[in-house]
Amino acid sequence: LNIYIAGAGSMGCRFGYQLTKANNTVTLLDEWEEHITAIQSKGLSITGDQEDNIDIPIMKPEEADQSADLIILFTKAMQLPSMLQNIEHIMNEDTKVLCLLNGLGHLEEIQKYVPRENILMGVTIWTAQIESPGKVKLSGQGGINLQSVEKTGETFGKDLINIFNEANLNAEYDQDVWPSIWRKVCVNGTMNSTCALMDANISEVFSSSHGYNLVEKLISEFVQVAAKENVHLDADEMYDYVVSASKKVGEHYPSMHQDLIQNKRLTEIDYINGAIVKIAQKYDVETPYCEMMTELIHLKEDILL
Ligand code: NAD
Repeated sequence: LNIYIAGAGSMGCRFGYQLTKANNTVTLLDEWEEHITAIQSKGLSITGDQEDNIDIPIMKPEEADQSADLIILFTKAMQLPSMLQNIEHIMNEDTKVLCLLNGLGHLEEIQKYVPRENILMGVTIWTAQIESPGKVKLSGQGGINLQSVEKTGETFGKDLINIFNEANLNAEYDQDVWPSIWRKVCVNGTMNSTCALMDANISEVFSSSHGYNLVEKLISEFVQVAAKENVHLDADEMYDYVVSASKKVGEHYPSMHQDLIQNKRLTEIDYINGAIVKIAQKYDVETPYCEMMTELIHLKEDILL
């Protein structure tokens, strides 16, 4: 299988590394010059749970010239439209495309380029972090849930599970992946945006009753809008999940904090709280808390960037 990873930041490098180690043919596609040059000249360096360095091809999307059997999308959400445009030339009528980005609205974007029977959607709780160009920190364990968008794609979806599991990526074929995708969006839309705005870690947010109140209001909007899209999220269960996660990873600064506060980069807010606002409008549902979070994050982006 000729595999391309489109978007080779932290997560693209994790998947690229593990799949290459399991003897798959993987090429990374990226736009970040310094990162490309570092990997081309010194290989991809891995740190964290283990130290390693591998040779792996990396290039700009427009330089790719082999037809793809599988493309794994791992851009940030706002980079997805331009990435899809730039990889159109390596897709043929059988090319399968897997999306593991956080957030909502990606299927609509991918469908502009890829027939639905070739698309797989999923969610992953693996993590990764770029330390410097060409160097990625991998620690902890994770997993992947995925499903083909159309039933006809199921056979390939299950083959892909085997490929991922041979690479120790701990994947599972999900007969209904959307609740898992929404759950993660809900976690991100409560903890990530709040920690970024407050410049706080998770336990600091939960050191105040106002943190609990805010999380509860946000969750109730996610649950309401999910229900309109026929996705069942249970508000109490979501709330308990977020609160219990805060006890386990309290010291953690979520990725939106890393992006905005630490690295002064744009956030994926429009695909998380912002997506809820947009979907809610279709159903005349009010989502004032998500709307406010989206405005405040964009305001902070404008102030800092
Ligand atoms: P990332 O920001 O590390 O990389 C995304 C893109 O941005 C890549 O093309 C990368 O080269 C580029 N980039 C990164 N740092 C840059 C810099 N300093 N200057 C210029 N370009 C830079 O994104 P990611 O963490 O790999 O996330 C990809 C998707 O996966 C997102 O939707 C994210 O929400 C999701 N996700 C991330 C994690 C995680 O732990 N990182 C976990 C689960 C899901």
